[in-house]
Amino acid sequence: MIKTKNIAIQCPQCGHTDFEQPDNVQDDDFVKCVFCGHQIMLCDLKEVGVQQAKEAIIPEAKKEIEAMLKKAFKGKFK
Ligand SMILES: [Zn+2]
Repeated sequence: MIKTKNIAIQCPQCGHTDFEQPDNVQDDDFVKCVFCGHQIMLCDLKEVGVQQAKEAIIPEAKKEIEAMLKKAFKGKFK
């Protein structure tokens, strides 16, 4: 499994998170989705993973910031 931070990168084709990869995989090596057989270069897959991580993290972060703001302003606006 290839991970970006705490989030497993999903196959851009089918969303599966298991990839066949050579030992000591390099950025210009192809990895292959074990589920649908989609092949993607590791550097491209990482790029996809970063996008997926951002999409997954932003709503979480937004929630946290909103909660923090609510707490910070609590009692100030009555
Ligand atoms: Zn796939």
